[in-house]
Amino acid sequence: MLDIQGQPRALAHLQRAIHSGRLASTWIFAGPPGVGKFKTAVAMAKTCLCDQPIRRPNREAGDGHLATLPDDFVLTQPCGTCESCVAVEHGTHPDLHLVSRQLIRYHDKSGKSKGTTLSIQVIRGEITGDDSEDHRVEAKLYKRSQRNRGKWFIIDEADLMELPAQNSLLKALEEPPPGSYLIMITASPGELLSTIRSRSQIVLFAALPAVVVATALQQRGATTEQAQLLARLSGGSLGRALGWFDQEPSVTPARATKVSTVAKTQAEKVSTDVFTWVRHLTAVLDNLATGRGGSVELAATIHRQAEEYAQRSMQRDPLASKDQATRDGVAVMLGFVATWFDDRLRNRVGAEVAVPVPSSVHAMPESIVVECLRIGRGAEVQLDANAHVGLLLAATTTAWEQAMTGSV
Ligand SMILES: [Zn+2]
Repeated sequence: MLDIQGQPRALAHLQRAIHSGRLASTWIFAGPPGVGKFKTAVAMAKTCLCDQPIRRPNREAGDGHLATLPDDFVLTQPCGTCESCVAVEHGTHPDLHLVSRQLIRYHDKSGKSKGTTLSIQVIRGEITGDDSEDHRVEAKLYKRSQRNRGKWFIIDEADLMELPAQNSLLKALEEPPPGSYLIMITASPGELLSTIRSRSQIVLFAALPAVVVATALQQRGATTEQAQLLARLSGGSLGRALGWFDQEPSVTPARATKVSTVAKTQAEKVSTDVFTWVRHLTAVLDNLATGRGGSVELAATIHRQAEEYAQRSMQRDPLASKDQATRDGVAVMLGFVATWFDDRLRNRVGAEVAVPVPSSVHAMPESIVVECLRIGRGAEVQLDANAHVGLLLAATTTAWEQAMTGSV
């Protein structure tokens, strides 16, 4: 598990827990999307399920050295070769249960589910079983572990759990069966019941340093320019950056040969990509800043590109909700706009701009940039609160225009 990049604090927290020999039964891994929470959760389970884990001092861990732990601290790693480790890698371990939104349709017998929330049927079916005593034996949580090293349950996007699902889980957490461990993965721990949070060990995951994201992208065939731009725009989310890079059709020939015909056709159908979106937004923002265009053009560009983003998300994940995918798209575009403002400020104060996207507006006064970034953050909050996308974009872009032209 020490090969997970950019999360030394979280790994140190988990290594201390393993080392103490008193592992909490309920965990919450909280942090931005795409920074390695799920991968770490599986690695944690793999380590604890391993038949012959490798233990060696921190000072001998090489690249896996954890600076926050003493040099003589004994780190634990899965061996990677035992029957248990191989089963985890193949996704066939009988004592490792992964719960994700892919299971929603399986448990929804009515066929009406939009596939956007984890209902009580999913949690009962995968973990807690029926609440009545008679049926408890049917629950995976209460079954004996098959390999006698405990049972692990990992709920991805745990904040998607509906209230009855969370309550069912809470009841089980009050008296967890010995040797059962639950990890809830979430970017929004506030969506979980406070009573669940108070019973859980919370491990915080940070946004990844840009260099970690860029290096990982380059290892997958991105050019230096692509890697640096995507790393910057992703805000430290490798998962997001990889998603964008995989959507990027202008890949190197080496990569292109690996892309299936179907994926290639899809990529060709969609005429734009992250780089085009950023270039379009830059042009429209340049126009707005220099009085050659209005806020209506910017709102329309963000909305159109958000819908293109949603269309791509739906191709990759047909279970996604169209409305949510569009909102995600708007959030991404607002993030790109924030980067544009940030670069104008960096130019102003002479700070290094890691990846300059060609813009005709070199710099802007700090007071204007600060105001525009504040407006953008307000828009993101309202977007999360389910504001109407069209109205929100109209109000936000108008506020930006007023701030930039000084006509407040
Ligand atoms: Zn092993």
